[in-house]
Parts: sequence; C-alpha cells; structure tokens
Amino acid sequence: ALQCGIVGLPNVGKSTLFNCLSNAKAQAANFPFCTIEPNVGVITVPDERLTKLAELVKPQKVVPNTIEIVDIAGLVKGASQGEGLGNQFLGNIRATNAIIHVLRCFDDGNVIHVDGSVDPIRDKEIIDTELQLKDLETVTKRIQKVEKTAKTGTDKDAKKTFEILSVVKSHLEAGKSARTAPITIEDFEFIEDLSLLTVKPVLYVCNVDEASVNTGNKYVDLVKESVKDENAEVLIISAKIESEIAELEDYEERQMFLADLGLTESGVAKLIRAAYRLLNLSTYFTAGVQEVRAWTITQGFTAPQAAGVIHSDFEKGFIRAEVIKYQDFVTLGSENACKEAGKLGVEGKTYIVEDGDIMHFRFNV
Ligand code: GDP
Repeated sequence: ALQCGIVGLPNVGKSTLFNCLSNAKAQAANFPFCTIEPNVGVITVPDERLTKLAELVKPQKVVPNTIEIVDIAGLVKGASQGEGLGNQFLGNIRATNAIIHVLRCFDDGNVIHVDGSVDPIRDKEIIDTELQLKDLETVTKRIQKVEKTAKTGTDKDAKKTFEILSVVKSHLEAGKSARTAPITIEDFEFIEDLSLLTVKPVLYVCNVDEASVNTGNKYVDLVKESVKDENAEVLIISAKIESEIAELEDYEERQMFLADLGLTESGVAKLIRAAYRLLNLSTYFTAGVQEVRAWTITQGFTAPQAAGVIHSDFEKGFIRAEVIKYQDFVTLGSENACKEAGKLGVEGKTYIVEDGDIMHFRFNV
C-alpha cells in the first residue's frame, strides 16, 4: 500500500493529527517522545464519485480507496547521528512514498516546545537538515562504491551515476533537499534505488490555533515564504479543532460544528485529499452489482497496468478493456444505457487510463 509519513519535531501536533486521521483516539501527551513506536493508520479517501456510482448501481458492497499514514515520532536534532533513536526513525521514513511535514504555528504556553520557542522555520530546517545529512551519508557511500569504476573503466552507466551523485552531493552539502537538485527526471532513475529521503514529495501542514484556521497567521506567512521555491503545497489545519470534530459522533453534528467555524469540510478531509495529490495518484472504478470499487493507480498507467492492480493475472492475460467515462455513466445511469448510446469504448494495451474511468477488463487466464 502507498504510505505517507508524518514528520515534525516533538510536540508540534503529529499524534493529534494522526489520531484524527486514523480515528484511533490514542492519547496525545504534553511532552516530547510520547509516541515512540511508529504508528500506522489506514485511511479511506473520500470520493463523491464512488458514492454516486453506488447510488446508481446499488451493489452489495462499496470499497473506497485507502492510503496508509505512518506517524513518525522522535525526529530531533542529531537524529542522523543516531541521537534519540534517530536512525530508526529515519529508516521508517525511507519506507514511505511521501512526507507530511507538520509545523507548529500555534502559541500555547501550556504546550512545551522542545527548542523553547515557536519558530516553524527553524523547526523545518532542523528536520530538513537531519534528512539531508542522512542522504549525504547514503550518497557518499555510493560514490565511494562507484568512483573507481567510473574513473578507470569504460562503464558508461557508472560514469553517469557518478556524475549525478556528485551533483546531488554538492546540492545536499549546500543545505538543500535532493528533490530540488538540478538533475533531470531521467537522471533520478539512476539513483532511485538509494531511496533518498529528501527526494520524496512533501506537503507542509501548518498546525494553527482555532482563531487562525480560516485566515492563517504570521507563522503561516513565514512558512509560505520559506517554501515558495519548493513547489510544495502548504495546508492550514488546527489539530485541536480536528480532535474536537473527531469526538462528535454523527455527521449532522460535525457539519454544524464546522459551519459555526466558517468551514465547509474538516481539515482531515482536506489533508487526505492533499496527500492523495502528493502521491500523484489517480482513481479508476469498477462498477458491478457485487461491488462498486475505487482502485488506486499512478498517473500514466496503461490499461494492463491498471488491471494489474486488481490481480497480476489480469495484467498478464490482458485482452482489452471496456471503458465508460464517469460523466457518461452518471448522465445515462447504467452500463447498458452507455452501451446503447455508444458510450462504451473498447480499448487495447496502450490505452492510458484516465482519472474517473469506469473499467471492465477482459483477460485470458
Ligand atoms: P507530537 O509530539 O508532534 O505528536 O505532538 P502531539 O500531537 O502529541 O501534541 C503535543 C501537545 O500539543 C498535546 O498536548 C496536544 O494537545 C497539543 N496540541 C496539538 N495540537 C494543538 C493545537 O492545534 N493547539 C493547541 N493549543 N495545542 C495543540
């Protein structure tokens, strides 16, 4: 499953958010290091289209998309040197596909800050530096490995890899993250197996006080300014509000609570969708009477690759796919109606699946 890791300094609100996300309602304590084991939560991706399709098809079962969220606690200054179980936590980040970086943007004298004051830019840099140092270690090790072959032999790939690694190394040494290194996407493929931490896409979450949830505040402005060259999304959330919402049992109550605050949806819902965008995913549907289901694919997947998400046999034995566009399905109301109206396309192996497609695969077993 695809994973997003939540990182940030202690006491910035990671566990509070994580608990809202996973509805696990574990406790958030007012001191650093309260969550030591990485927590993994599985969350459902809200999708109105799935609800709409289910209304039309009336299946026995409806299965939404999910992503895994991991709460990665314990990142502190010195983590890359092994401080505070640091290395273990960095290992947890390596396994994720994207990073949600939570920054404390609220004042609260009752909540201790590990570094004594509220300063999201400093906090961000502490975390970034640890990740960059770890990457620098990884890159340096690999350079040592390929250097001799690259310099003495005729191995073109080794030469190329060496060049790319050198560029990334200087970039990291300059205190920048590998994701902004001046190399091409094709170049990145040469070093993909290193699973560098600072290559992973990142989403910044500013955890603000209740009063700032609509407007942001001075801390949020600073964060936005400092990441403006990173091409990263900045989301404003109040973990405190989210945990109050999570306490409310029924939907009506939640909506009223949100409306009172001038909000239309919970921050958690926003966060989940942003995480989904971050992972560069798209969704296709299968819509049978047994089951209406959303499937997660990476943008650009061909029809056989998309079929492979259901089962590897579907990919191997792929013959063709029948495709209905979501809008046609909703307008006409059923697969049969689409077929009669000529809105059911038959597509081959090279078809690139589009977000929202309703797919039916034909395959050999
Ligand atoms: P973590 O160490 O980053 O996982 O932080 P926690 O989620 O455990 O939060 C640390 C403390 O800050 C807890 O006492 C929370 O109740 C409190 N806290 C978290 N988010 C907010 C917030 O948005 N506003 C305020 N005032 N307190 C918060």
